Amino acid sequence: MKISNSEKRLRQPIVVVLGHVDHGKTTLLDKIRGTTVVKKEPGEMTQEVGASFVPSYIIEKLAEPLKKVIPIKLQIPGLLFIDTPGHEYFSNLRRRGGSVADIAILVVDITEGLQKQSIESIQILRERKVPFLIAANKIDKIPGWKSTNDIPFLASIEKQRNDVKVYLDNLVYNLVSQLANLGFSAERYDRIKDFTKTVAIVPVSAKTGEGVADLLALLAGLTQRYLETRLKFAEGPAKGVILEVKEDPGLGHTIDVIIYDGVLKKNDTIILGGINGIIITKVRGIFVPRPLQDMKLSKYDLTPIDEVYAAAGVKISAPNLEEALAGSPLYVIEDESKVEQYKQQIEEEIKEVRLYSDIDGIVLKADSLGTLEALISALQREGIPIRLADIGPISKRDVIEASIVAQRSKEYGIIAAFRVKLLQGIDTSGVKILYNEIIYQLIEDIKKHINEIREAEKRRTFDTLILPGKIKILPGYVFRRSDPVVVGIEVIGGVIRPKYPLIKEDGRRVGEVLQIQDNKKSLERATKGMEVAISIKGNVMIGRHVNEGDILYTDVPKEDLEILVNKYPSSITDDMREVIKEIIRIKRKEDPLYGLGLQI
Ligand code: GDP
Repeated sequence: MKISNSEKRLRQPIVVVLGHVDHGKTTLLDKIRGTTVVKKEPGEMTQEVGASFVPSYIIEKLAEPLKKVIPIKLQIPGLLFIDTPGHEYFSNLRRRGGSVADIAILVVDITEGLQKQSIESIQILRERKVPFLIAANKIDKIPGWKSTNDIPFLASIEKQRNDVKVYLDNLVYNLVSQLANLGFSAERYDRIKDFTKTVAIVPVSAKTGEGVADLLALLAGLTQRYLETRLKFAEGPAKGVILEVKEDPGLGHTIDVIIYDGVLKKNDTIILGGINGIIITKVRGIFVPRPLQDMKLSKYDLTPIDEVYAAAGVKISAPNLEEALAGSPLYVIEDESKVEQYKQQIEEEIKEVRLYSDIDGIVLKADSLGTLEALISALQREGIPIRLADIGPISKRDVIEASIVAQRSKEYGIIAAFRVKLLQGIDTSGVKILYNEIIYQLIEDIKKHINEIREAEKRRTFDTLILPGKIKILPGYVFRRSDPVVVGIEVIGGVIRPKYPLIKEDGRRVGEVLQIQDNKKSLERATKGMEVAISIKGNVMIGRHVNEGDILYTDVPKEDLEILVNKYPSSITDDMREVIKEIIRIKRKEDPLYGLGLQI
């Protein structure tokens, strides 16, 4: 890749694609790549790792028919598209207080408008200060739309019937008003006067290629016009960000890096963040995929190169990359005296993301610095407190922290795991672990869990709890053998009330208390030492399911016992405490977690 980028004034802008699931991100990126491959001049080396390069002359060719609307003479060498769409990946393109991405395309299915992940993407873009435009995708689905493959939107719209144009306008205005609610002024791109104040909406079809020319021309035009300072290429040592850490056959551990400034050369000394501290190492090899012409489309078909100029996506092989941290910055150290300075800078950046406090909040574990940061801000937006946020697999410490929280605020006693596993041999009893590979779904799972526990707690105020109780059916006091059973009992310990379910000593259910009577008077409860008559409803018969002289217990749900012990410890009498121990013994046979960790 020894193209003479360094002689050009501006580097290629880095473009990311975000949007709601199924709105067409992958299809759009494929279309852009496909268009580029077809139009490319033979022999040209424009291969990247983790990104695709679209040279300027292709954009100019495509935009030729749009000259009147988007008059561009491109000074940027082209556009560099990050290959993997979605904000899991985008979040690794981090750069202190911002992003390595220069501009974003938010893909929105025009027939559906903004959805959850579109809004989340906008929030992330706003947080990271990345400008964006909207690809209003799937225009070919508009009723009556006549598609012509790969023509600009402005050419295609001319061919549509009036009612179809109106239909499109309505869909665009639906988007405009949705964006207005989020505080953005937006407009169809060909009607915009001031691009610094208005978000451009480009109607496209990733399927037919309509509008792709407009999109590329606009991206190139806007970035070179408004991001000039940012795109000024510096001749100095490379700055980059680690997109992914991989293990490659023959190369060992490698890192896929986006270089956004400067030059990276073989044998350069680089500094980067690792899971257990800073890594300083020497670049053994820089690789890009082989040019398309002789590529058998294998992932590992790589070509070594000696140096690379920003902006570019490359694979770096070097010793000691096993613990490299995706999302970490990477710098070339041009002179030994600067090591400390870089070290401090990276350490601080990593420290800013990792969190630890002694508050009651959830434990969060993620696979990379970028995803951790994205999860933290999403949780903060939802007002969910975080006790610990860190990178790497779930460790014993994480479980301990979550169980400390669980004892005080059960709803937060969880570990949220994003693309990380549990280390082997760790006892996680009493702690809930939520796994999900999609940021917004993990957040949804966390919210759902917290709400469920809160609801359960609300329902279960002391009066609605099923409390521990132990009774004995008194021999000779069977008044009715079935349907419902009516017997005389003695309360041995704890308490019984109507509606309490009962179990036998072997844990089997034997119906539910219907009524409690003493001398024909109904009682709301019976406590230790009382001898009363009770009726039991359910499919239960004396002599068959229960016998005279049998001991029965109340069937206390796990959550009720936890609430009783943690929230109302003073209402546990000594006799009830004994009953609790016996019930735990019975219930553990079915559920090993029953009553675990409770201070009785
Ligand atoms: P992603 O989840 O955002 O990456 O969405 P995909 O690119 O996987 O697209 C989701 C579905 O929408 C696929 O079935 C695509 O074929 C379809 N799709 C994407 N773009 C278009 C489009 O412009 N028009 C039509 N009709 N379908 C599309």
